[in-house]
Amino acid sequence: MKIILAETAGFCMGVRRAVDTTMALVEDGEANIYTFGPLIHNPQVLEILEGQGVKILTDIPPRIEGTVIIRAHGVPPSRKRELAEAGAVVIDATCPRVLKVQAIIKKFLEQNCFTVIIGDKNHAEVNGLLGYAGKQGAVVTDEKDIENLKLPEPYVIVSQTTQDNNVFDRLSAAVMAHFPGGRVFNTICDSTHKRQDEVRKLCHEVDAMVVVGGRNSANTARLGDVANSMSCPVYVIETEDELEPEKFINYKTIGVTAGASTPTWMIERVINAIRQNDTTSP
Ligand code: SF4
Repeated sequence: MKIILAETAGFCMGVRRAVDTTMALVEDGEANIYTFGPLIHNPQVLEILEGQGVKILTDIPPRIEGTVIIRAHGVPPSRKRELAEAGAVVIDATCPRVLKVQAIIKKFLEQNCFTVIIGDKNHAEVNGLLGYAGKQGAVVTDEKDIENLKLPEPYVIVSQTTQDNNVFDRLSAAVMAHFPGGRVFNTICDSTHKRQDEVRKLCHEVDAMVVVGGRNSANTARLGDVANSMSCPVYVIETEDELEPEKFINYKTIGVTAGASTPTWMIERVINAIRQNDTTSP
Protein backbone atom coordinates (compact mmCIF):
# COMPACT_ATOMS: atom_id res chain seq x y z
CA MET A 1 0.00 0.00 0.00
CA LYS A 2 1.27 3.44 -0.89
CA ILE A 3 0.91 6.25 1.65
CA ILE A 4 1.04 9.86 0.51
CA LEU A 5 1.59 12.34 3.34
CA ALA A 6 0.26 15.83 2.65
CA GLU A 7 3.00 18.48 2.69
CA THR A 8 0.77 20.76 4.72
CA ALA A 9 -0.10 18.18 7.41
CA GLY A 10 0.36 19.23 11.04
CA PHE A 11 1.18 22.34 13.08
CA CYS A 12 0.56 25.65 11.34
CA MET A 13 2.70 28.69 12.05
CA GLY A 14 0.35 30.10 14.70
CA VAL A 15 0.05 26.87 16.66
CA ARG A 16 3.79 26.18 16.49
CA ARG A 17 4.45 29.69 17.76
CA ALA A 18 2.04 29.27 20.70
CA VAL A 19 3.46 25.86 21.63
CA ASP A 20 7.07 27.13 21.30
CA THR A 21 6.24 30.18 23.45
CA THR A 22 4.84 27.92 26.17
CA MET A 23 7.68 25.41 26.03
CA ALA A 24 10.24 28.24 26.21
CA LEU A 25 8.66 29.39 29.50
CA VAL A 26 8.71 25.81 30.82
CA GLU A 27 12.38 25.46 29.88
CA ASP A 28 13.18 28.77 31.57
CA GLY A 29 11.83 27.25 34.79
CA GLU A 30 9.04 29.81 35.05
CA ALA A 31 6.67 29.01 37.93
CA ASN A 32 2.86 29.15 37.62
CA ILE A 33 2.38 29.00 33.88
CA TYR A 34 -1.22 29.08 32.70
CA THR A 35 -2.80 29.06 29.27
CA PHE A 36 -6.07 30.90 28.95
CA GLY A 37 -8.17 28.00 27.71
CA PRO A 38 -6.59 24.87 26.23
CA LEU A 39 -3.54 25.98 24.23
CA ILE A 40 -4.45 23.92 21.16
CA HIS A 41 -7.16 21.48 20.10
CA ASN A 42 -5.12 18.39 20.71
CA PRO A 43 -5.58 16.33 23.89
CA GLN A 44 -2.27 14.49 23.53
CA VAL A 45 -0.25 17.71 23.40
CA LEU A 46 -2.29 19.13 26.29
CA GLU A 47 -1.45 16.06 28.35
CA ILE A 48 2.27 16.64 27.76
CA LEU A 49 1.95 20.30 28.75
CA GLU A 50 0.04 19.32 31.89
CA GLY A 51 2.88 16.94 32.75
CA GLN A 52 5.24 19.93 32.50
CA GLY A 53 3.13 21.83 35.03
CA VAL A 54 1.28 24.07 32.57
CA LYS A 55 -2.23 24.66 33.91
CA ILE A 56 -5.33 25.71 32.03
CA LEU A 57 -7.21 28.74 33.24
CA THR A 58 -10.86 28.61 32.23
CA ASP A 59 -12.00 31.69 34.09
CA ILE A 60 -10.35 34.75 35.56
CA PRO A 61 -9.99 34.60 39.36
CA PRO A 62 -9.72 37.87 41.33
CA ARG A 63 -5.96 37.37 41.80
CA ILE A 64 -3.47 35.60 39.51
CA GLU A 65 0.15 35.04 40.41
CA GLY A 66 2.02 33.84 37.39
CA THR A 67 2.11 34.02 33.64
CA VAL A 68 -0.93 33.59 31.43
CA ILE A 69 -0.44 32.74 27.77
CA ILE A 70 -3.14 33.80 25.33
CA ARG A 71 -3.50 31.10 22.73
CA ALA A 72 -3.31 31.42 18.95
CA HIS A 73 -7.09 32.02 18.60
CA GLY A 74 -6.86 35.27 20.57
CA VAL A 75 -9.35 36.69 23.07
CA PRO A 76 -11.70 39.67 23.25
CA PRO A 77 -9.76 42.78 24.36
CA SER A 78 -11.81 42.91 27.60
CA ARG A 79 -10.47 39.48 28.67
CA LYS A 80 -6.88 40.54 28.11
CA ARG A 81 -7.48 43.62 30.26
CA GLU A 82 -9.10 41.56 33.02
CA LEU A 83 -6.17 39.13 33.11
CA ALA A 84 -3.71 42.00 33.52
CA GLU A 85 -5.92 43.62 36.18
CA ALA A 86 -5.92 40.32 38.12
CA GLY A 87 -2.12 40.62 38.30
CA ALA A 88 -1.10 38.12 35.61
CA VAL A 89 1.91 38.60 33.39
CA VAL A 90 0.12 38.27 30.06
CA ILE A 91 1.97 36.79 27.11
CA ASP A 92 -0.03 37.19 23.95
CA ALA A 93 0.55 34.26 21.57
CA THR A 94 -2.37 35.24 19.32
CA CYS A 95 -1.47 34.18 15.80
CA PRO A 96 -0.37 37.17 13.68
CA ARG A 97 -3.02 36.21 11.13
CA VAL A 98 -5.78 36.38 13.74
CA LEU A 99 -4.31 39.71 14.92
CA LYS A 100 -4.76 40.95 11.35
CA VAL A 101 -8.50 40.13 11.42
CA GLN A 102 -8.84 41.80 14.83
CA ALA A 103 -7.11 44.87 13.39
CA ILE A 104 -9.51 45.03 10.41
CA ILE A 105 -12.54 44.90 12.73
CA LYS A 106 -11.04 47.54 15.03
CA LYS A 107 -10.22 49.86 12.14
CA PHE A 108 -13.73 49.65 10.68
CA LEU A 109 -15.39 49.99 14.08
CA GLU A 110 -13.55 53.32 14.40
CA GLN A 111 -15.35 54.28 11.16
CA ASN A 112 -18.64 53.14 12.73
CA CYS A 113 -18.82 50.05 10.51
CA PHE A 114 -20.67 46.91 11.54
CA THR A 115 -18.82 43.58 11.12
CA VAL A 116 -20.27 40.27 9.98
CA ILE A 117 -18.01 37.38 10.98
CA ILE A 118 -18.54 34.25 8.93
CA GLY A 119 -17.58 31.40 11.22
CA ASP A 120 -18.62 28.98 13.94
CA LYS A 121 -20.59 30.53 16.78
CA ASN A 122 -18.92 29.82 20.13
CA HIS A 123 -15.55 29.10 18.52
CA ALA A 124 -12.89 30.81 20.62
CA GLU A 125 -11.44 32.76 17.70
CA VAL A 126 -14.89 33.99 16.68
CA ASN A 127 -15.67 35.05 20.26
CA GLY A 128 -12.41 36.97 20.32
CA LEU A 129 -13.21 38.67 17.01
CA LEU A 130 -16.70 39.50 18.18
CA GLY A 131 -15.15 41.16 21.23
CA TYR A 132 -13.37 43.58 18.88
CA ALA A 133 -16.65 44.43 17.13
CA GLY A 134 -18.53 45.02 20.40
CA LYS A 135 -22.23 45.65 19.76
CA GLN A 136 -21.42 46.29 16.11
CA GLY A 137 -20.88 42.65 15.21
CA ALA A 138 -22.77 39.47 14.30
CA VAL A 139 -21.77 35.91 13.47
CA VAL A 140 -23.09 34.09 10.43
CA THR A 141 -22.66 30.32 10.49
CA ASP A 142 -25.26 29.32 7.92
CA GLU A 143 -28.05 30.63 5.69
CA LYS A 144 -30.55 30.67 8.59
CA ASP A 145 -28.48 33.33 10.35
CA ILE A 146 -28.76 35.56 7.30
CA GLU A 147 -32.57 35.47 7.46
CA ASN A 148 -32.40 36.84 11.02
CA LEU A 149 -29.75 39.42 10.24
CA LYS A 150 -30.44 43.15 10.41
CA LEU A 151 -27.53 45.02 8.94
CA PRO A 152 -26.96 48.71 9.20
CA GLU A 153 -24.83 50.33 6.54
CA PRO A 154 -21.87 50.51 6.26
CA TYR A 155 -20.65 47.04 7.09
CA VAL A 156 -17.79 44.66 6.40
CA ILE A 157 -17.59 40.89 6.20
CA VAL A 158 -14.63 38.93 7.55
CA SER A 159 -14.08 35.22 8.03
CA GLN A 160 -12.90 32.99 10.81
CA THR A 161 -9.35 32.12 9.74
CA THR A 162 -10.13 28.41 9.51
CA GLN A 163 -13.32 28.81 7.51
CA ASP A 164 -13.80 26.70 4.37
CA ASN A 165 -13.29 28.85 1.29
CA ASN A 166 -16.37 27.63 -0.56
CA VAL A 167 -18.59 28.15 2.48
CA PHE A 168 -17.20 31.65 2.93
CA ASP A 169 -17.80 32.53 -0.74
CA ARG A 170 -21.35 31.17 -0.58
CA LEU A 171 -22.33 32.87 2.69
CA SER A 172 -20.65 36.21 1.94
CA ALA A 173 -22.39 36.31 -1.47
CA ALA A 174 -25.72 35.57 0.25
CA VAL A 175 -25.17 38.37 2.81
CA MET A 176 -24.25 40.78 0.00
CA ALA A 177 -27.35 39.75 -1.98
CA HIS A 178 -29.57 40.63 1.02
CA PHE A 179 -27.66 43.74 2.02
CA PRO A 180 -25.80 45.30 -0.93
CA GLY A 181 -23.03 47.76 -0.13
CA GLY A 182 -20.85 45.77 2.26
CA ARG A 183 -17.13 45.15 1.86
CA VAL A 184 -15.81 41.62 1.88
CA PHE A 185 -12.46 40.67 3.41
CA ASN A 186 -11.57 37.05 2.91
CA THR A 187 -9.43 36.57 6.01
CA ILE A 188 -9.13 32.80 5.72
CA CYS A 189 -5.58 31.88 6.61
CA ASP A 190 -3.64 30.61 3.59
CA SER A 191 -2.41 27.74 5.74
CA THR A 192 -6.04 26.61 5.85
CA HIS A 193 -6.49 27.22 2.09
CA LYS A 194 -3.38 25.26 1.25
CA ARG A 195 -4.29 22.40 3.55
CA GLN A 196 -7.79 22.14 2.09
CA ASP A 197 -6.59 22.52 -1.52
CA GLU A 198 -4.05 19.78 -0.98
CA VAL A 199 -6.79 17.47 0.31
CA ARG A 200 -8.88 18.21 -2.81
CA LYS A 201 -5.88 17.35 -5.03
CA LEU A 202 -4.95 14.27 -3.02
CA CYS A 203 -8.49 12.94 -3.29
CA HIS A 204 -7.87 12.44 -7.05
CA GLU A 205 -4.76 10.37 -6.36
CA VAL A 206 -5.80 8.19 -3.42
CA ASP A 207 -8.41 5.56 -2.63
CA ALA A 208 -9.08 7.00 0.83
CA MET A 209 -7.93 9.80 3.13
CA VAL A 210 -6.95 9.62 6.77
CA VAL A 211 -7.24 12.92 8.63
CA VAL A 212 -5.46 13.06 11.99
CA GLY A 213 -6.46 15.58 14.63
CA GLY A 214 -8.24 16.40 17.86
CA ARG A 215 -11.96 15.68 17.93
CA ASN A 216 -12.63 19.26 18.97
CA SER A 217 -10.43 20.73 16.25
CA ALA A 218 -12.62 22.64 13.79
CA ASN A 219 -10.00 22.70 11.06
CA THR A 220 -9.46 18.94 11.34
CA ALA A 221 -13.20 18.35 10.98
CA ARG A 222 -13.24 20.62 7.92
CA LEU A 223 -10.49 18.61 6.25
CA GLY A 224 -12.72 15.58 6.68
CA ASP A 225 -15.65 17.52 5.19
CA VAL A 226 -13.53 18.57 2.21
CA ALA A 227 -12.58 14.93 1.47
CA ASN A 228 -16.21 13.95 1.90
CA SER A 229 -17.34 16.60 -0.54
CA MET A 230 -14.93 15.02 -3.06
CA SER A 231 -16.69 11.66 -2.49
CA CYS A 232 -13.44 10.25 -1.16
CA PRO A 233 -13.73 7.75 1.71
CA VAL A 234 -12.33 9.54 4.74
CA TYR A 235 -11.36 8.45 8.26
CA VAL A 236 -10.99 11.26 10.78
CA ILE A 237 -9.06 9.96 13.79
CA GLU A 238 -7.37 11.40 16.84
CA THR A 239 -4.81 8.65 17.44
CA GLU A 240 -3.55 5.49 15.74
CA ASP A 241 -5.76 3.43 18.09
CA GLU A 242 -8.83 4.49 16.14
CA LEU A 243 -7.61 3.00 12.86
CA GLU A 244 -9.74 0.10 11.68
CA PRO A 245 -7.35 -1.93 9.49
CA GLU A 246 -10.12 -4.11 8.02
CA LYS A 247 -11.51 -1.04 6.28
CA PHE A 248 -8.20 -0.49 4.46
CA ILE A 249 -7.91 -3.93 2.84
CA ASN A 250 -9.03 -2.86 -0.62
CA TYR A 251 -7.10 0.40 -0.77
CA LYS A 252 -3.91 0.67 -2.80
CA THR A 253 -3.11 4.29 -1.99
CA ILE A 254 -3.93 6.19 1.19
CA GLY A 255 -3.54 9.93 1.66
CA VAL A 256 -2.72 11.24 5.13
CA THR A 257 -3.20 14.78 6.33
CA ALA A 258 -3.61 16.38 9.72
CA GLY A 259 -5.15 19.42 11.37
CA ALA A 260 -3.17 22.49 12.39
CA SER A 261 -2.92 21.33 16.03
CA THR A 262 -1.63 17.84 15.31
CA PRO A 263 2.01 17.26 16.28
CA THR A 264 4.37 15.52 13.86
CA TRP A 265 4.90 12.61 16.25
CA MET A 266 1.20 11.78 16.18
CA ILE A 267 1.14 11.83 12.37
CA GLU A 268 4.15 9.49 12.35
CA ARG A 269 2.44 7.11 14.77
CA VAL A 270 -0.60 6.92 12.50
CA ILE A 271 1.52 6.31 9.40
CA ASN A 272 3.49 3.57 11.19
CA ALA A 273 0.26 1.94 12.33
CA ILE A 274 -1.15 1.98 8.77
CA ARG A 275 2.08 0.36 7.54
CA GLN A 276 2.07 -2.25 10.29
CA ASN A 277 -1.52 -3.20 9.52
CA ASP A 278 -0.91 -3.33 5.79
CA THR A 279 -1.61 -6.85 4.59
CA THR A 280 -0.93 -5.98 0.94
CA SER A 281 2.86 -5.57 1.47
CA PRO A 282 5.07 -8.66 1.42
S1 SF4 B 1 -4.62 28.33 11.06
FE1 SF4 B 1 -3.64 30.16 10.32
S2 SF4 B 1 -4.60 31.78 11.50
FE2 SF4 B 1 -5.04 29.92 12.60
S3 SF4 B 1 -3.37 29.75 14.06
FE3 SF4 B 1 -2.76 28.62 12.23
S4 SF4 B 1 -1.52 30.09 11.03
FE4 SF4 B 1 -2.73 31.22 12.55
